[in-house]
Amino acid sequence: MSVTILGGGLAGISTAYHLKGDYLIYEKNAYLGGHIHSEHIDGFIWDEGPHVSFTSQAYVKSLFEFNTDNEYLEYPVHTGNYFRGSWIPHPAQTNLFAVPQPLRDACLSDFLNIQNSFDEKLQPRNYGDWLNFSLGETFASTFPAAYTRKYWTTDASNLATSWVGDRMFLPNIDQVKAGYLAPLPESTHYIKKVRYPERGGYVSFAQKMISTANFQANYELEAIDFEQKTIKFVNGNSVSYEILVSSLPLPTLIQKSNAPAEIKAASEQLNCSSVLLVNVVANHVTQRAENWIYVYDEDKYSTRINCTELLSPNNGPEGKTGVQVEVYFSKYLPLTEDISVIVSAVCAELVEMGLIKSLSNIESTHTKWVEWANVIFDHQREEAQNKIFNWLEQYGLVREEDDLAPMTNWETKFKNKVNLGSLILTGRFGQWKYYWTDDCVLRGKWIHENLSHTFSD
Ligand SMILES: Cc1cc2nc3c(=O)[nH]c(=O)nc-3n(C[C@H](O)[C@H](O)[C@H](O)COP(=O)(O)OP(=O)(O)OC[C@H]3O[C@@H](n4cnc5c(N)ncnc54)[C@H](O)[C@@H]3O)c2cc1C
Repeated sequence: MSVTILGGGLAGISTAYHLKGDYLIYEKNAYLGGHIHSEHIDGFIWDEGPHVSFTSQAYVKSLFEFNTDNEYLEYPVHTGNYFRGSWIPHPAQTNLFAVPQPLRDACLSDFLNIQNSFDEKLQPRNYGDWLNFSLGETFASTFPAAYTRKYWTTDASNLATSWVGDRMFLPNIDQVKAGYLAPLPESTHYIKKVRYPERGGYVSFAQKMISTANFQANYELEAIDFEQKTIKFVNGNSVSYEILVSSLPLPTLIQKSNAPAEIKAASEQLNCSSVLLVNVVANHVTQRAENWIYVYDEDKYSTRINCTELLSPNNGPEGKTGVQVEVYFSKYLPLTEDISVIVSAVCAELVEMGLIKSLSNIESTHTKWVEWANVIFDHQREEAQNKIFNWLEQYGLVREEDDLAPMTNWETKFKNKVNLGSLILTGRFGQWKYYWTDDCVLRGKWIHENLSHTFSD
């Protein structure tokens, strides 16, 4: 059995690591890692957006330990919210004490009203409803709905609820009431402790897997013929495959394939955000202790902010700060400004928020455009994805019970073995899911186990 892997991000790397044997990865970049790649620029290590491991999966924990030779940090996470000049601990709904008046009272009374009048039969039609029903309209519209327009780049009413799962914290009445008066004794954030490599940035969690992987760099897919099982690359080389594991963004795979117009049109219905990372170095120490900060003000570009030296002190030189700001775009919120305009505005925002003392303290800035950031779970997504998967079935894709679900329940998934076909999708964008790094690792393990099962028959 020979396996061709398209894309050398963590999902491709994990598949390779678990298969061990006869495989080859084709990657468009000169390096492996994809979204977990870490770069050394201006004296700092920068990840592609803040990456920490908060997995509960023992297998992934120990694999990451092995990759770093146990040289990783584990610390309680400290996150914050910035709202029009106020700093509110996260999650804001259980820290209303820090919300300015009269908003603070309005948030509490709306929340209590909705809890007291809650009708079990009231089904949220969309994420906007879900927020209103769970948190009360004042809080929902001021905080998560505003943040949704910045992070998910579209209105909450345009999103389904299937992806929410345990990604959103739902407080109980006692927690909200207590947090209205004073800080709660214990954080209610769904992520409590995180892990991060001591050295080298987040990519170190996969370093050994990367250094032992067989791959061809600078192999960007140009065209794929599922009928003929042939792949052509931009560099002029072609290969044929026996079994294909693709971690390429699903719309890319379909657009470059022999799919008919109708299927290509369905792939255009799949929306994803892109993120512009604005990385700013200032010649003074870190100004705030939060590991990352959510910014709710809609008149600011800054959406989420982290300081890379807080992920690991080895990420930067002593006495300086490396601030990374995420600014999101998509088809719903296209990038129309010149990037230099955004960089200047972001620098001014950082000064206003107190993360940088003054513009004259800034030593350097650089940006990175990340084309594929978050799958947007809007209303047309499921039908379009289903259409594509149905079409791919004739070319060896085996439908999985949960292949349209944003997340995977790994406990159930590993219990039931399936026979795989000659086309297997993997990864956040390959499967079009809300996957974290642990999911990408586990998918590789799952593919290996089920391919072994298929060929042992
Ligand atoms: C801003 C941000 C923050 C995140 N934070 C966290 C976090 O804190 N914790 C966590 O666990 N997860 C986090 N994630 C999620 C995590 O990054 C992803 O789940 C994971 O890295 C996805 O891996 P992948 O292999 O599926 O995709 P990718 O990493 O995108 O890999 C796909 C690979 O395919 C290659 N490729 C693309 N097109 C072609 C082509 N045409 N030809 C050949 N190769 C191609 C790409 O170069 C890439 O290497 C975050 C993601 C983002 C965007």
